[in-house]
Amino acid sequence: MAAWLQDVEDLTLKGQINVPYTWSVGEVGSRFLVALRDEEKILGNRCPSCNTVYVPPRKNCGSCFKDIDDNQWAELGPEGVVTAFTIVRYDYPLQPAKAPFAYAIIKLDGADVGFVHLIRQGLEKLRNGVRVKALFKEERTGHILDIDSFVLLEA
Ligand SMILES: [Zn+2]
Repeated sequence: MAAWLQDVEDLTLKGQINVPYTWSVGEVGSRFLVALRDEEKILGNRCPSCNTVYVPPRKNCGSCFKDIDDNQWAELGPEGVVTAFTIVRYDYPLQPAKAPFAYAIIKLDGADVGFVHLIRQGLEKLRNGVRVKALFKEERTGHILDIDSFVLLEA
């Protein structure tokens, strides 16, 4: 440390950054979100090389880096198994739901990877291995939260 820094008071500034943005989700993401919105279907896709089934779908395989072409689509779920979760007990402005709720990694039926979503009810019964089902909103806009949350199917 430079000698002159030893006597400098370390100050901080408080501020707030508002960064609105519009982001293209691309052709694969668009097809996924349109199916959520218009058909209440959760689409994934399968890598033609290693057969990994992704949800949300991907344009390229994250394991073997092959392109995933357009005839590899698969309807998944709407049920699955919770493989991990964390319960949020405090409200924070950037959270997508009012506490308490859980972020869960759900292995949808037919998928090989986890799908991150919310569980709002039955948190006291939430365990790894419990089966859940997607609960779609009545009014959907083409957003991941067109699925309101996943609900527990067993006690
Ligand atoms: Zn692959």
